[in-house]
Parts: sequence; structure tokens; C-alpha cells
Amino acid sequence: AARVRKDAPALAARRRSTFSRALSLSYREPLHLVRGEAAYLYDSSGRRWLDLVNNVCHVGHSHPRVVEAAHRQAARLNTNTRYLHESVVEYARRLVELLPDPLRVCFFVNSGSEANDLALRLAMAHTGAQDVLVLDHAYHGHLTSQIGLSPYKFNRRGGRGKPDTTHVCELPDPFRGRLRADRDDDVGRRYATSVGERITGLTARGRRPAAYFAESLQSCGGQIVYPDGYLREAFEHVRSAGGVCVTDEVQVGLGRVGRHFWGFELQDVVPDIVTLGKPLGNGHPLAAVVTTPEVARSFETGMEYFNTFGGNPVSAEIGLAVLDVIRDERLQANARQRGEQLLRGLRRLRDRHPLIGDVRGEGLFIGVELSLDGRRPASAHAAALKEAVKARGALISTDGPDDNVLKIKPPLVLTETDCDLFLDVLGDALIEVEAGI
Ligand code: PMP
Repeated sequence: AARVRKDAPALAARRRSTFSRALSLSYREPLHLVRGEAAYLYDSSGRRWLDLVNNVCHVGHSHPRVVEAAHRQAARLNTNTRYLHESVVEYARRLVELLPDPLRVCFFVNSGSEANDLALRLAMAHTGAQDVLVLDHAYHGHLTSQIGLSPYKFNRRGGRGKPDTTHVCELPDPFRGRLRADRDDDVGRRYATSVGERITGLTARGRRPAAYFAESLQSCGGQIVYPDGYLREAFEHVRSAGGVCVTDEVQVGLGRVGRHFWGFELQDVVPDIVTLGKPLGNGHPLAAVVTTPEVARSFETGMEYFNTFGGNPVSAEIGLAVLDVIRDERLQANARQRGEQLLRGLRRLRDRHPLIGDVRGEGLFIGVELSLDGRRPASAHAAALKEAVKARGALISTDGPDDNVLKIKPPLVLTETDCDLFLDVLGDALIEVEAGI
């Protein structure tokens, strides 16, 4: 640890001299990481950290099969999509095969933001409309178009409020929202009336929705698992007004939720457009949009869609390797089992620690909401807990409108021992934080 304390501050200072202050570093004492393997990160002093934050390195940090695929293809050829390439076509086929009908047409891009921007263009082309419905506290990306769809950005510090064409629907949060699963009936359907109300508002002004954007489970909003029936009902409102339903699977897709390969399957719906990102390339910039032939046709206006890097052969080989590893190492099943283990352990901790207000999640997408006197957000405790967990060698993050939700979204290769270790660490950290504040 001595070396970290020596070299990390100097590197942080060098970073500050050439980076904008708009960029941030995690943790009170930033980490200087030099290597990753499976669910572990190693810093410059050789200390090992259990990574429960990184939902990008899905099949584990620097997975040898993914690294080998990248190396092999980079050494042979990398070009753009205006040439035929076997692996690019094969990757699109494999991806589409994992999705339900009629999601059959694939576009490759380089980031989740780009995927959502393209989804927006597709929806606008298909409907001829401009207005978009989003969920409160949602985040869909850093491009201008996506900041405009992200209350998480436009309604928070530095934000400039919502564009006239964005309409914010109530977040179906069954723990702290207006309707609560432990008290109210028919919560999913009743939350979806907010979507219907926004559409009625639009219709009254002679407008109609181009799209409804939602993550299949909401991440930045505080790891929210929607109540049953919510998306089905919301989609009905949107479709009956001629809008397109977009599910953002950038964080939650590709087996993370365990019971299903995609998050939207938990809600028993099929979107018109699905956007994929983070885990597809296991850290390599690779993202995708998959839509229906019908929506895709509306985009064939005569204007070419060209994306220099999107869907290049190196990305495709990496994407294929990631899908192979998920299948061969049975990572979706592992996400389910390890998720159940963590949820069981976290619920035991909740019974002992009043600071834990709620434990929720699906597979390895888990949220622990910290609250005082029932449901008042314990934001300072969450920040302290994140640091206390880190001091014991594990990495988690916090998020949610009040930054009081512990986010747990580790690589899917997490083992039973890793989960036991984390639960012990969190138990100790809770005792320390409860005693200290
Ligand atoms: N959608 C969601 C749900 C995200 O969490 C993110 C990134 N945090 C994005 C889109 C944007 O992806 P990227 O950072 O790859 O542009």
C-alpha cells in the first residue's frame, strides 16, 4: 500500500494538468490500477481488489479468449463495414439469434450513447414524430441527444432542464416511489398510467410520441426492479399512440439478470428497438442497436448510414469471443446462482442492520438502499460505507437520486468464495459505519 500512496497522488496531479475537471475519479484516495483478472483488479503496489462495480468486463477482466481474439484479428485485418467480412456477418447473426422475433436487424456502433442516438433516429424516421418519453432519473448517454433524454443529467447539477420534446414519466420505484409494493395493489399497471398521461398531454398539443425509452431495470436511478406488468402496460400506451418502444440494455443485458438473457424478458415484453453496449466487447468499445425489419425499412431513406469504427472485424471477433465465453462458462446460470447467494446474504444483513432499507435485484444486478427511519435516504452513510468496503479490499459504487443506493454489478465470473468474501466485508463495514455516524 505504501507505493500506492506514493505514486497515485503524483499521477493524479499529472492527470489534472491535462484533463478537464469535468472528469472525476472514484474514491477518496483514487486507485492506480495496472492489471485485471477475472473479478479482481490489481493496483501498482500489487494489492488485489474484488471488483463489484465493473459491468463492462462481463466475462472477467482481460479474459484470455477475448484477448486472444482481439490480438489475432488485429494482427490480420481491420477495416470498415463497406467490405464483406465473415466474422462481422456471423456476429450480427449470433446476436440477433439471441433476441426474440421480430428483432432481426442489427447495426453496430461504438458506445451505448451512440446506440441510443441511433435508436432515436430510427424511432423518429419510423414515426415522423419528435417527442420522446423517458423515465425519471434515467441516464441514456453523454451525446447532446442523450443528455436531452437523461433526467439524471438535465435535472441535476450543471443541467439545463428538459428539452421541450422530452417528457418525463414517473419512475416505477416500488420501494420509495408514490406506489409501494408492500402497501399498494396493482403497482405496475398504476405506475404505467404516468406514460398514458404524458401521451394525453402530447395529444392535447397536437403531437404524438416518436419513442418511449427505458432501461429494462433502471441502473443510475438506483438499481430499480420494476413491478410486474409495468413495461407491458407502458408499451401498450406507447404503441396505441403510434410510438416505438426502446429498451436500453446497455447495463443489464447479456445474461446479467440470470433468469433471462435480456432484462426486458423479466417484464414479458418485446421492444421495437433494443440498445446494447458495455458488456458486448468486455471493455473494447462495441455497442449495437437491434430492431425490427419494419422500423429498419423506415430508415432506408436513401441516406447512407456509415460508422467508421462500428462493426469492424476486430470488434466482431471480440464480440464473438464474449458470446462464446458466456455460453461455454455458463455465465448466465452463474449470474443467477451468485445473484441468489448475494441476495440471501444481503437480506440476512438487512435483518441485522436497520441502515439497510431495501435489498433488490435480479442476478448480478443488485441494489442495497440505505435509509434512516424507514425510507429517508442515508446518503452520507452510503458514501462512508463505500469507503469502508474499499478499505477492506472490495469495490462498490453508490447511485440513485440521493446517492444512497449501493450498486453491485460485478463481472459474471464472480465465484461463491468471492460472494462470501464480499458479504463478510460488507458486514464489517456496516458495523463500522453504524458505530461512526
Ligand atoms: N445507457 C445506460 C443505461 C448507461 O448506463 C450508459 C453508460 N453508463 C449509457 C447508456 C451510455 O453508454 P456509453 O458510456 O458507452 O456511451
